[in-house]
Amino acid sequence: MSDIQGYDLVLKGGTVLDPANGRNERADVAISGGTIAAIGPDLATDGAQVVDCAGSTVVPGLVEGHSHIFQDVSKVGAPADEAHLRRGVVAVADAGTAGASTFDAFRKVVVDANEIRVVNFLNVSVLGLIDFRFGELLNPDTLVVEDALEAAANHPGIVRGFKIRLSEDVVGHHWQALLKKSVSLAEQAGLPLMVHIGETEEPVPAVLDYLRAGDIVAHCYTGKPHGILADDGTVLPGVMAARERGVLFDSAHGKSNLSFEVAKRAIADGFLPDILSSDTSARNWRGPVFDLVTSISKLRALGAPLDECIRRATIVPAQVLGLDGEGYGRLDVGGTANVTVLTETAEVTLPDASGNSIVAPRLEPTTVVHKGALVETTPWRGGASA
Ligand SMILES: [Zn+2]
Repeated sequence: MSDIQGYDLVLKGGTVLDPANGRNERADVAISGGTIAAIGPDLATDGAQVVDCAGSTVVPGLVEGHSHIFQDVSKVGAPADEAHLRRGVVAVADAGTAGASTFDAFRKVVVDANEIRVVNFLNVSVLGLIDFRFGELLNPDTLVVEDALEAAANHPGIVRGFKIRLSEDVVGHHWQALLKKSVSLAEQAGLPLMVHIGETEEPVPAVLDYLRAGDIVAHCYTGKPHGILADDGTVLPGVMAARERGVLFDSAHGKSNLSFEVAKRAIADGFLPDILSSDTSARNWRGPVFDLVTSISKLRALGAPLDECIRRATIVPAQVLGLDGEGYGRLDVGGTANVTVLTETAEVTLPDASGNSIVAPRLEPTTVVHKGALVETTPWRGGASA
């Protein structure tokens, strides 16, 4: 290298969209030694590798707030790096696939075996979600408070919350007792509780009554019975009231919990998810979910503004997961260089989880930078990349 102090890599000429820092403007992003060295117009590129980002949007490395990545142990476990990192996601939360009895295995085969930063919502059932055919709380004794508290206390870097699935096929008729116990457990650990809705025994406001500010309702756009909409298509007053007192809502697409009809009406009503997540799993990562960027593309096509989608897939989940302190979810000069470049493709057919589809442009993570290094991306699993 010459005597010029050059950058390692420059992402040139894109629109930098970083909701955490209120940035939405054309700028270059320069990276050196694993960190973001500069953000600004017309940065010097001498000696640097240059990626032309003209026409693309440069965002913080995406943060996936809800996934299932307990590969080879759970029937729903997708491979973390392949399903997420290679598709623009740099940090991911597993939503209850592991329980206290399987947590050590989760650490070994997921957390330690992947490049991506992994945290989790520990399933309140010690069994976790090993096999979706058999509800993990049908035997309510599998909720062992001491075991869950011990795992959380021993692994604060990983366990960032708890998860309970409240569908009737998971909890039988014990939902109220199990939910109360779970909220109390989360309270003792000082962590949020994520609650999975859709086919709960009672309408969702009955569930919301138990939740605290910071707790999370997953699958807010589910088309299954007992979702967030009233019969007239407006968002239920009880749902709006819960949001007002700080309960968070997670879109968590999943194999069967995104209805375009519900999402479109809710978005028109101003009800965006707090956390925009994919709920990727081994059952849906080859469709209809594919990945987080495809979930973003879908909600954007239904009327959610791009900057609001990116906020909900970067800084908001980073804060909820306690990862903002590690620099996730934002582009800070001097911070770790995790960056995703999104490029709009031609229109494609995008399916929801209720048998409907829309034709809309798709966002593709054309360049992914993880800890300052370019990641080898993998093509969209929905077909030939347009
Ligand atoms: Zn899930």
